[in-house]
Amino acid sequence: MLLHTLMILMLIMSLTSSVHAHVGTSPTYAYEPAAAVTHYTNARIPHGLDERHKITYHLFDTQMPGPHIVIIAGIHGNEPAPRYAAQYIVDHFHFEQGRFLIIPVASLYAATHQTRNIQRDDLNRQFHNPDPRGNAAQRVAASIIDIITDFEPDAIIDLHKATPGRLVNTLVHHQDNPQTAALTRHAIQFATDAINDSALVNNVGGNRPFREFPYENFPGTTSREFSYLFGVPSLLLETGLHHPMSLRVAQHLFLIDALVTFFTDTHAPE
Ligand SMILES: [Zn+2]
Repeated sequence: MLLHTLMILMLIMSLTSSVHAHVGTSPTYAYEPAAAVTHYTNARIPHGLDERHKITYHLFDTQMPGPHIVIIAGIHGNEPAPRYAAQYIVDHFHFEQGRFLIIPVASLYAATHQTRNIQRDDLNRQFHNPDPRGNAAQRVAASIIDIITDFEPDAIIDLHKATPGRLVNTLVHHQDNPQTAALTRHAIQFATDAINDSALVNNVGGNRPFREFPYENFPGTTSREFSYLFGVPSLLLETGLHHPMSLRVAQHLFLIDALVTFFTDTHAPE
């Protein structure tokens, strides 16, 4: 995964060129996936909705043993950095082991309207109550769960942004599921150590510890429901609203890279 780290550092240099006084031509990202990696793009329209709610998703199969990792972004339409990070991964990441499901825009409707909610409902409060015949957000939630179910995930990472003073630059999980808690904590520690050792932390003024919530908190969120629905670690990754867009995208990429490394290294042989 070192390659990823180098790519991310190059991205940061290119995006924060005023800070780094980067001169010369912009770096290019000419990494081609290994010949064996297959990339399928697929889409689903939730039951009873239309193209405005189409969920496009990407499947990468390295044909090598390894974990099945889900990266989901765009659950909230007013949080663009996660969508940019997820699309960057689709376009540029070099996957080495396992399979990856990437949903860059979970709610096309919310992204189009640049709103947190789908109409009046928060998609990230529906995953305990998905319903293909419910409101639009419940229908989208049901479709996302179907897509992830088909993929048979081993770990799920959901990208967001947070308002200052709350959950900035933080990995969130719900602690009560004994099936997933220990592995999730190890993953978080690994990712936190990685970012604390990186130049990124100097730019963001320190990295907050991760946050654990008991099951009662935040019903319907991915970090709570997916760990129970699928019995796998489910992490919500928040970057700070007050940080520059380029830095937020870089933070997402950096932490995803660390988590992918962790879940690959700890994946039991099949
Ligand atoms: Zn969000």
